[in-house]
Amino acid sequence: MQIDWFTSVDGAMQRFDELRGQAQMAQEIAYREKKIQGWCPACRRETNMHLVETPDGGWTNLREALFCECGLNSRMRMIMGVVEKYPPTGRFLMFERVTPLFVRMQERYPFVEGCEYFGDDVQPGEIRQTHGIDVRHENMLELSYPARTFQYLFHGDVLEHVPDMQVALRECYRVLEPGGTLLFTCPVFNFRKHNVRAVVENGALRHIQEPAYHGNPMDPNGALVFAEPGLELLDDLRRAGFATAELGLAFNPAQGILRDGNPYDDYNMWPIIFKATRRR
Ligand SMILES: [Zn+2]
Repeated sequence: MQIDWFTSVDGAMQRFDELRGQAQMAQEIAYREKKIQGWCPACRRETNMHLVETPDGGWTNLREALFCECGLNSRMRMIMGVVEKYPPTGRFLMFERVTPLFVRMQERYPFVEGCEYFGDDVQPGEIRQTHGIDVRHENMLELSYPARTFQYLFHGDVLEHVPDMQVALRECYRVLEPGGTLLFTCPVFNFRKHNVRAVVENGALRHIQEPAYHGNPMDPNGALVFAEPGLELLDDLRRAGFATAELGLAFNPAQGILRDGNPYDDYNMWPIIFKATRRR
């Protein structure tokens, strides 16, 4: 996995500018050919990635819709590749359990643990049945785990659905052991600042903007988006106490990892992953 790491938003944005032309060309080819050949870090071989277009003829999101034969889309392949490069060596928790990504991760790291969010009325740590298996419920705002439990944490596109990102990042920090690693993705547009859509105040949900929802394997109604995180997540990580905070750019047409192809440039998402480590 080729990945460029940035510790500053300015550095990342400068690289976006440099790559813009190449990225535009790569996404045009993907839309035209409806497939792209490349190295899959999950399969560990050169494969064909096929585009599954949205049925209504609207914009097809290249982050989610460019599938390798193994069933992983670009976002998941990026995650597999980065985890392979910085592999867990101790207790490893993923904030997902019922997804194809968890299954592939478990094949490679059999010790991985998973959890899902079942709702506010469920006790953190409680085990519930879903998708035919027992799954642990966790709420990123109040994890049931003691401090310094994990060497490695991963969450994928969860943070934008948590009412308070800063509290969630602090909780991640708390349950990591010294020197431990947090890795996560979330949909980030090319903005510095977060775009807050909804908040919880005194226990009550208040919408600031029109409610937006994302697909959710745990709920057919989707998951409410509290905020569209901006690149300032890097600052949030440092504020949460992390000793290092980096933004990884995994753009690489040879791995079928492109921008998401959104027709509006500010919203045309780069393939980004965040990595942070707890102080030793
Ligand atoms: Zn594959």
